[in-house]
Amino acid sequence: MRATGRLLASLLAIFCLATTPIARGVTSSAGWAWPVLGPVIRGFDLPDDPYASGHRGIDIAASVGTVIVAPADGTVSFAGPVGGLLFLTINHGGGLSSTYSWLTADLVRKGDVVTRGQPVALTGWGHAGAPVPHLHFGVKLDGAYVDPLAYLGPITLAAFVRLAPIP
Ligand SMILES: [Zn+2]
Repeated sequence: MRATGRLLASLLAIFCLATTPIARGVTSSAGWAWPVLGPVIRGFDLPDDPYASGHRGIDIAASVGTVIVAPADGTVSFAGPVGGLLFLTINHGGGLSSTYSWLTADLVRKGDVVTRGQPVALTGWGHAGAPVPHLHFGVKLDGAYVDPLAYLGPITLAAFVRLAPIP
């Protein structure tokens, strides 16, 4: 009987996950919208030393040229190239900002007011030499990098089913 109970609990969990409504730019009220929908292929790894290597964001797999949407309302504080590579930063107020790295296009300009779900940029390959194209997505709170997953709402099986295959 206990095994049956566990099975029922598992099925219920899967059912809840699969039936949670989600669409591009839409999540539960608990969190930000995902800037792109995809599996996280590399997690956040804050080094102890601010100058040490680590991973100051998460990598979300996405085909090159995927539309990135603003995860929350904000104002564009940076959009443009640095050293020939394209970046975007959105200031969300309250000390929070989000950063998008190695893009193929910025769709907004510095000073633009953006709303949650609005297209703001197109993804590029991501980290040089990475095996799978992705968006590097970072979040800063009061100037310090924090784990973006703490701000993103749940992503569901239904969202993964709709993902385009990665080339
Ligand atoms: Zn990264």
